[in-house]
Amino acid sequence: MIKDLKTIGIKKDALDLFSPDRADNLPVLYGLPEKVAFCKRCVVSNQRPSSTIEFKSNINTKKETISFDDSGVCTACRYSDIKDREIDWQEREAQLIRLCQEFRSKQGNYDCIIPGSGGKDSAFTAHVLKYKYNMHPLTVTWAPHIYTDIGFQNFQKWVHAGFDNILFTPNGKVHRLLTKLAFEKLLHPFQPFIIGQRHIAPRFSALYGIPLVFYGENQAEYGNNIDDNLRPTMDKRFFQDNIDLKRIFLGGVSAEELINSHNIVYEDLFPYLPPDKERLESVGTVVHYLGFYLKWDPQECYYYAAEHTGFSANTERTEGSYSKYSSIDDRIDPFHYYTTLIKFGIGRATYDAAHEIRNRKITREEGVALVKRYDSEFPKKYFKQILEYMDIGEDRFWECVNRGRSPHLWKFKDGEWSLRHAVWM
Ligand SMILES: [Zn+2]
Repeated sequence: MIKDLKTIGIKKDALDLFSPDRADNLPVLYGLPEKVAFCKRCVVSNQRPSSTIEFKSNINTKKETISFDDSGVCTACRYSDIKDREIDWQEREAQLIRLCQEFRSKQGNYDCIIPGSGGKDSAFTAHVLKYKYNMHPLTVTWAPHIYTDIGFQNFQKWVHAGFDNILFTPNGKVHRLLTKLAFEKLLHPFQPFIIGQRHIAPRFSALYGIPLVFYGENQAEYGNNIDDNLRPTMDKRFFQDNIDLKRIFLGGVSAEELINSHNIVYEDLFPYLPPDKERLESVGTVVHYLGFYLKWDPQECYYYAAEHTGFSANTERTEGSYSKYSSIDDRIDPFHYYTTLIKFGIGRATYDAAHEIRNRKITREEGVALVKRYDSEFPKKYFKQILEYMDIGEDRFWECVNRGRSPHLWKFKDGEWSLRHAVWM
C-alpha cells in the first residue's frame, strides 16, 4: 500500500524515466531549463520561476525562470548588490515623501490602500506609511484559506495597533473548489490565493476611488529581470485585463468552462477576475512598491513589526524550513512550498536561506546546510486538514504530486524519491 502511494500516478513504463542510471535526454516539465545549476552566491537554482500572471496561466504555460550571469550568479543576488551599492536610498526616500505629498488626504478620507495580512511585511508597510509618513491608509486583507492561530492573532494585533481594515473572505465553497482544481491540474494549490491577493487592492482602489495603492516588497527582487526592480510600480498586466472568460484561467480551467461545467455562476468568480479596466483608469489607480523607496530587509521588517504592531513569530520553526516568522498565517502555506519542491526541486528552506544569504544574515555554507536539513521535509502538521479542505483522499494527493515530478529533477531508487541535483552535492 505504502509503495503504491510512492509511485501512484506514474505509469509503469514511465517509471524508467526516473531511473538513477539515466542522466541525459530526460523529459523536462513546465518548460524549465534542462540543465540544473545553483547560484554561486546564494542557494537558489536556475529552476526558480519568475512571477507569473496567474490568471493567464494553464497547464501549457511555460515557466520563465531566474537568470544567471556568466559567473554563475543569479539576478536576485546581482540586484542585492545594486541595493547595497548603487541605489541612493536618501534620494529614494525623498521620492517617497513627494509621492505621499501628492496623494495625502486633506479632508480626512483615506488616501491609500495597503493590502496585507498583518504579517511582518504588511505590518511594516502600513505602520511606516501611517505613522512616519503621515498617510491615512485603508488596509485590506484577503483571508487565508485556513488561518493558523498565530496568523489570526497577528492579524488582530495589527488592526489593534492602529489601522482601519477590511477583511475580505472569499466564498469558501468557490475558493475550495478553485484550490482543489489548482492542486489537481497545476500542482499549485496556492494559486487562487495569489490571484485574490493581487487583485484585492486595485479592486478596492476602484471601488472606493482611492488611486494610490502600496504593496511592500516587489517579488521581482527575488527572481525576475533586474529591470522590473528599477520601476516603482507594479506592471499592470498583473492586475488589469479585459474580461474574456475564454482567456482567463483559474485553477488551470478557463472561466468559461468553470461556469459551464463546474456549477459556478459568473458572480462567484468576480473576486478572482481582474478589476474593471475602465474603472481603474478613471480612478487613476497606481500600484507602488514601498520596497522601491525604502531598502527592504525581511528580518528588519520582523523586528519593526514585533516592536510596533505586536507581531509574534511562531514558537516552533515552519515545516520545510528553519524560519519562524515568514508566511505563517495560512495552514496551506507549507503545502505551497512542498509543491515548489516537487515541481522545481526547491523548497521553503531554499527560499528562506537565499534571502538571508543576500541580506548577510547567514553564510552560503550555513544556507546549504539548512537546505540539506529541511528543504525536503514533508509538512505533516496540517496534512489531514488540507486534504479535507480540498476534499481529496490521500491517494489522490500523491497521484497529483507524483505526476508533477519532472524526470530531469527526480530519481526513484529502492522505493524512495530523491533529487538528482541538490545544492549540497
Ligand atoms: Zn543568488
